[in-house]
Parts: sequence; structure tokens; C-alpha cells
Amino acid sequence: MKTVSSLLNEEWYERYKIISKLNIRSSIYDVTNQCNLRCKGCFFFSSDEHKAAIDETDISKWHTFVDKEMDRGVNLAILIGGEPTLYLDRVEAFYKRLPTFCATNGIKKIPRDRFPDLPIGISLWGDENDEKELRGKDTFAISSKNYEGDQRTYYLYTITPKQVGKTETIIKKIESIGLKVHMQLLSNDEGVEGFNWTNEELNDIRQEMDDMLDSYPKTVISSKYYHKVITTGEMLGRQFGWGECPSVTEPIDNRHPGPKRLIHFIRWASDLKTMHRCCTSETRDCSTCKDGAAHMSWIMVNKRAHITSTEDLQNWIEVFEMFAKLYHFISW
Ligand code: SF4
Ligand code: SF4
Repeated sequence: MKTVSSLLNEEWYERYKIISKLNIRSSIYDVTNQCNLRCKGCFFFSSDEHKAAIDETDISKWHTFVDKEMDRGVNLAILIGGEPTLYLDRVEAFYKRLPTFCATNGIKKIPRDRFPDLPIGISLWGDENDEKELRGKDTFAISSKNYEGDQRTYYLYTITPKQVGKTETIIKKIESIGLKVHMQLLSNDEGVEGFNWTNEELNDIRQEMDDMLDSYPKTVISSKYYHKVITTGEMLGRQFGWGECPSVTEPIDNRHPGPKRLIHFIRWASDLKTMHRCCTSETRDCSTCKDGAAHMSWIMVNKRAHITSTEDLQNWIEVFEMFAKLYHFISW
């Protein structure tokens, strides 16, 4: 029988041991239904998730809620929205109690004196032109000033089909302000013309993402296996989609038999009572889903399936390390 130790040399086994000690139990929280942008293709607004619940405004209820989440075993709170920076007291309710990550569009700066070591991910949807077309604003011009040199912040660069051949310019801009970058692909939930992926573009962007990782290894936080899985939707001969997705809210997951999944994962709405279907759009056709976190988690929860060859297991380790770096469980 193949075992982890039989497939890895000493160096890789040490790397494996570090991540295997991390017993991460994450859940996702909508901090608010509001946002200071309205991006075309935003999964939150396009699926009407902002109408699913009304924000809980009593801050004491947020504190009580976070305590209950910790009792449930959650040890990583991923804050999204809407835009979490609009309600920093709610962000603080998580941050003061447990490891917390905050996604933001970067327009409003999170004060470091109040949140000194909060890991932050800034959304970026392409170059100046794409950002203006899809988000109504060149957000990088603002967020880069707010976060230049910040050691715990990275850009979550959602690559659109129009970015093929142009990603290097953006990676260089990010490198020049001393931040890191992680890449994922646009799912185009609102069917904006010109932003649907063709197979050829997906092939091209996979190669380009690999090249960016090779050329900017200190700036790009990624792995070639992740690039392969996210661009093809395939892992070990299996196809990503509803039947395989690990990021479905556990109490409302009615799949039988269920696939390998994130244990105790819930995506909570901002009333602290309503649960959304999954980590992303409530209404997205899963066969079109390119969500980076869901693909990453898909690989991570399927460790056993990767204990088949040295290459497969090393691929799995690299993806786990990538996740652990993005959420600051290991340094980048
Ligand atoms: S900044 Fe984020 S939450 Fe706000 S509209 Fe854009 S994608 Fe949606
Ligand atoms: S939309 Fe994506 S993340 Fe949500 S259930 Fe479908 S495959 Fe999973």
C-alpha cells in the first residue's frame, strides 16, 4: 500500500508534516449586504443574496454569534460581503476572538492600528479598462495607495478573458508596491458580453499563470496544479461541479451520497441566521463555476485520492501550502 512517507523524500515529508498539523475549520460570513461598488458580475448582488436577509445591527449579537461559531469548532473566519470595511465593529467582533481573514475592494483602508495583523485580500478584476468597465472605477489606483508595502495583504486578482496576454503588467504593478497576488478566474455571473471563457482562452491563461509563477515566485502565491484544475475543471479524471463541490453549507447539503467536503462549513448571511447555499453565488450553474477557493478546497479535501504517486501528492501539498499562506497559517 502506498503511504505518504513512502512517496516523499525528507524535504517534502517535512513540508507535509507542517501542513498536516493544521486542522483548519473555516466558515464564511457576510458582514453586510451593502457595498460601495456595484460590479457587473458580482456573485453577491447578481444572485440577490443581498436580499436574502437584513443586516443584524446590534453589535452585541455579533459578539455572541462569534462565540457560538467558535463553540462549533470554527478556527478561521473568512469575512466577505458586501463590503466588510463599511462595518469595522462587526469585523472586530471576529478579529478579537479567532483567526480572521477579510476580503475587501480596498477602497476604504482598514486601519492597522486597530487591526494590526489581520490578513487582507483585495479584489482586483483586471487592468484599468476592465475595472472601469466592470466595476465603474479603477480600484487599483485607490487600493494600491491604501495598502502599499503592507506585509499581510495580497491582491485576489480575478482574471477575465480580456486579460489573456496582459497579466504580467498587473503582476509587475503589484510587485512594485510590495504586495503579493493570488489569481482566480471570472465566472461572469451576469453574462457581460465578451467576458465568457473559450477553451482556447482557458488553455492560454493556464500557460500564462504558470509563466507568472515562474517569473515572479516571490510575488505570486499559487501552484501549477491549481492552475490546471481551475482552468480545466478536472482533477484526477473527475469533473468539478455540484456533485463534487466541497464548499456547500453543511446543514443544507442534501447530496446523497455526499462528496468529500469542508467539515462544518457554513456560509452565513448578515442577519446571522440565514445560510447561503455555498461559498459563492446562490444561483450560479455549478457547471460554469470557476470559484478559486472552491477548486482549492476540492483538491485539499481529497488528500487520499492524491496518495497515489509522488507527483500527485506533491501537487496536493503545494495547493495546501498555497491555502495556508493565503490565510497566514504559514508565512509566505
Ligand atoms: S466590491 Fe465585491 S461585493 Fe462589492 S459589488 Fe464588487 S464584487 Fe460585489
Ligand atoms: S456555485 Fe460553485 S461553489 Fe457554489 S455549489 Fe456550485 S460549484 Fe460549489
